[in-house]
Amino acid sequence: MSYKDARILRDILMAVGFLVMIAGYLYSPLTFVGFIVMLSCLIPDYLYNRCPHCKKRLGRNSSSFCQHCGEKID
Ligand SMILES: [Zn+2]
Repeated sequence: MSYKDARILRDILMAVGFLVMIAGYLYSPLTFVGFIVMLSCLIPDYLYNRCPHCKKRLGRNSSSFCQHCGEKID
């Protein structure tokens, strides 16, 4: 999985979890389920949102160069 896929998956999990938490207003157990889904967005971010050269985490870096080693990450 590339760092781009990981970021897309992270954003999808975050959005779906948020919507499920809002649905918890109608059926309260969904609040907990949505919270778990939102937390699960940390997994692809932690595992795959990394520089392919130095393997350090990219965080919210949106440029096309790694902030640690300076290599191009596209
Ligand atoms: Zn790097």
